[in-house]
Amino acid sequence: MFKKILIANRGEIAVRIIRTCKDMGIKTVAIYSEIDEESIHVHMADEAICIGPSQSKKSYLNIDSIISAALVTKAEALHPGYGFLSENKDLIDACNLNNIAFIGPRKRHMEIMGDKSQARKIMMEAGVPVVPGTKESTNNAEEAFEMAKEVGYPLMIKASSGGGGRGMRIVYNEEEFISKFNTAKAESLVGFNDDAMYIEKYIENPRHVEFQILADTYGNVIHLGERDCSIQRRNQKVLEEAPCNIISQELREKIGEVALKAAKAVAYVNAGTIEFLLDKHNDFYFMEMNTRIQVEHPITEQITGVDLVKEQIKIAYGDKLDLTQEDIVINGHAIECRINAEDPDKNFRPSPGKIETYFAPGGYGIRVDTHIYSDYTIPPTYDSMIGKLIVWGQDRKDAIERMKRALDEMVIIGIKTNIDFQKQILSNEKFLENKIDTSFIEKEMFNNDN
Ligand code: ADP
Ligand code: ADP
Ligand code: MG
Repeated sequence: MFKKILIANRGEIAVRIIRTCKDMGIKTVAIYSEIDEESIHVHMADEAICIGPSQSKKSYLNIDSIISAALVTKAEALHPGYGFLSENKDLIDACNLNNIAFIGPRKRHMEIMGDKSQARKIMMEAGVPVVPGTKESTNNAEEAFEMAKEVGYPLMIKASSGGGGRGMRIVYNEEEFISKFNTAKAESLVGFNDDAMYIEKYIENPRHVEFQILADTYGNVIHLGERDCSIQRRNQKVLEEAPCNIISQELREKIGEVALKAAKAVAYVNAGTIEFLLDKHNDFYFMEMNTRIQVEHPITEQITGVDLVKEQIKIAYGDKLDLTQEDIVINGHAIECRINAEDPDKNFRPSPGKIETYFAPGGYGIRVDTHIYSDYTIPPTYDSMIGKLIVWGQDRKDAIERMKRALDEMVIIGIKTNIDFQKQILSNEKFLENKIDTSFIEKEMFNNDN
């Protein structure tokens, strides 16, 4: 096994990865920016190297500095976490060039899946149902307008390079097409340095259902069931649960087979997630594949007993999967609440600053993945997610009750958080009845019908 791994990330996911390395007896190297000197991942790792100033571009996105840190500390492998460089193919090149094992998929997988329009095309050819829409991307509004006629309204304009819910717009009619195309395109240029756009039919009131897969370098692929990530604000996940218990075992197997087919179509390696939209008629459509560990991976761990980061490391080392599909048995129900430093009363604007007091919930069935502590100052520079509260329960009802208790126990003083907002979701009648879809927050929390 690897003797030393560098974690090319910060925050809760860096902490999460260091923990598994310790469990496996692997030494760890943390990297940090100047503003993150007091961050807990720096103290938890065996070694830590400052790789530059606070701006991500100069530190967590600086491939040269990160590779130098790995070489200086003689790290044999690198885990990219999520966000930052986790889906950047230049990092894979740099790792290969310097004989550092990249804990993730191959470059070609990122190339294919990083271009969402191209991914759709490959999935169509592999016989995977995709959201009806265009087969090609374009940056030309008039050309897109013509393409849109075939797709029909309402539709969704999406950025081929998009992520984090950005670069997409719903369009209800022809009149608003051109202006929405241009704003989505502008957002994509700024956010992703790419203006290729594609069009999908707008699926009404769908659920976001995604399948976790693991694939080794010998062609073995398994899935670990699904996560329901329908509770979203502005197309970004807020609360996730596993399994999605409106899905029958029969449907689970059916979508699971399709997820395996998608992964096999590109000879995928390592952990990945195939995202689907599931409509009212139980028809499901491929939306995209994420070629990294995801934020919400712990809920799958809690119901399958599989440490996904450990599997990622073993696969990158060249081990064969020792799990078979039959070994994956779903036990109980898990929920994750993303805890964000933001102010729900001020349109969720970020609320960085000093945490005066932090108290973590605990007890049976509770897991907290976070990097915060009392006296820690959240820098304004990075993502506002400061932790994840994950609970396990025998069933959905049990998990909801436990999550309410855990949120009540959790104390974060000094900054604004979305803890109360999460509690409101958990006491909503529709949520309790599991009558949810991706418009839940908009409709139920803001009383907005659009
Ligand atoms: P996941 O799909 O892993 O559950 P998200 O959908 O929230 O997580 O985010 C997708 C990816 O985009 C993650 O790697 C996350 O770090 C990143 N991301 C999320 N929000 C933003 C944002 N506002 N700007 C840039 N990147 C983001
Ligand atoms: P990202 O790369 O930003 O994660 P996705 O393509 O995964 O973007 O879409 C994010 C979310 O946007 C989905 O979970 C869903 O709620 C919504 N969405 C995306 N495409 C459609 C569509 N065609 N119809 C309805 N909702 C959609
Ligand atoms: Mg997505």
